[in-house]
Amino acid sequence: MRVLVLGSGQLARMMSLAGAPLNIELSAYDVTNGNIVHPLTQTVLGSGLDNAIANADVITAEFEHIPHPILDICEQSGKFLPTTEAIKAGGDRRLEKALLDNAGVRNAKYAVINSREDFDVAIEHVGIPMVLKSALGGYDGKGQWRLKDLADVENIWAQMADCIASSDNQAIVAEEFVPFQREVSLVGARGRDGSIAVYPLAENVHTEGVLSLSTAIADQELQAQAQQMFTSVAESLNYVGVLALEFFDLNGQLVVNEIAPRVHNSGHWTQQGAETCQFENHLRAVCNLPLGSTQLIRETAMINILGEDTLPNELLAMDGVHIHWYGKEKRTGRKMGHINVCSDYSGELQRRLSALADVLDKTAFPALAKFAR
Ligand code: AMP
Repeated sequence: MRVLVLGSGQLARMMSLAGAPLNIELSAYDVTNGNIVHPLTQTVLGSGLDNAIANADVITAEFEHIPHPILDICEQSGKFLPTTEAIKAGGDRRLEKALLDNAGVRNAKYAVINSREDFDVAIEHVGIPMVLKSALGGYDGKGQWRLKDLADVENIWAQMADCIASSDNQAIVAEEFVPFQREVSLVGARGRDGSIAVYPLAENVHTEGVLSLSTAIADQELQAQAQQMFTSVAESLNYVGVLALEFFDLNGQLVVNEIAPRVHNSGHWTQQGAETCQFENHLRAVCNLPLGSTQLIRETAMINILGEDTLPNELLAMDGVHIHWYGKEKRTGRKMGHINVCSDYSGELQRRLSALADVLDKTAFPALAKFAR
């Protein structure tokens, strides 16, 4: 099978690695320059989307901020999965909120703001404190404001007005502030036959808006809630592939924050911690193969490597430590790779995370600070 991926970043790279044993061959479309590249080496294989589409058996995506005309061309080929509707919703918070409401899943109360008058209506409807997010182009906490006090309305409006004016079709989504205890996510896959397999929930720690640590957790009650919402969203879209739902845990009630219509950073732990990793399951789903078991095989935590391009070699000698580099050029704060830390027996994971905290710089890996001895 030949799969064309829209986007040529680390997610396409890891899909390519996972596809090789199944003889699934990947090429990637670099949306920034129109080149078709090899997802591992970035070697240019050709240019132009039309040829690549003709040569592919299946087309999928590794990110949601894809220009709609490109998605529409892929849609017309009849080869695109999960669905262009899901990708568009993942890239536009207005569509995403409508989709969540349509699927009947709990999410924060919201209002869409296009004008100063809309802002007043949103304050009335949503209440203060509120979180304000750009409808398009926002990720990892970028393009967001917090309104805690009416005295800040004009100042925040000035910034939001600039944002709205900066691009076509931009708007702001005002959301009620959710006083959550923690953030969790559910990654799962839906096959072409409608079968669903979800991984255990992951608990996620963010540092300055960026995911820093993800750990698979066992909580039957939350798992059941998450799985039910996953099924509602996936079925409402007739989704095929891996989908991630991010939640706030509010006193044991899950509230959906956002969806990612693709493999997700909070599912990277599955490479070492699950019977079949999320990348392989995405490919199995879109290639119409049976889904693989999503069972946890050992306790695993994932730590993002942000803005660093080297790590002490002694990490490789540590039991249960697996390093995944993305082959990217170093830039401050950039996701350069991740470390999966596994354990085979209870209590060992904490000890291994503490051992890592002894070796790694806590400024570069802030999520490890709480494991320091
Ligand atoms: P997002 O880009 O929507 O994932 O938001 C980035 C981060 O802001 C989330 O991981 C939360 O920590 C926080 N956040 C987003 N929306 C809300 C909300 N409605 N209430 C409270 N915190 C939020």
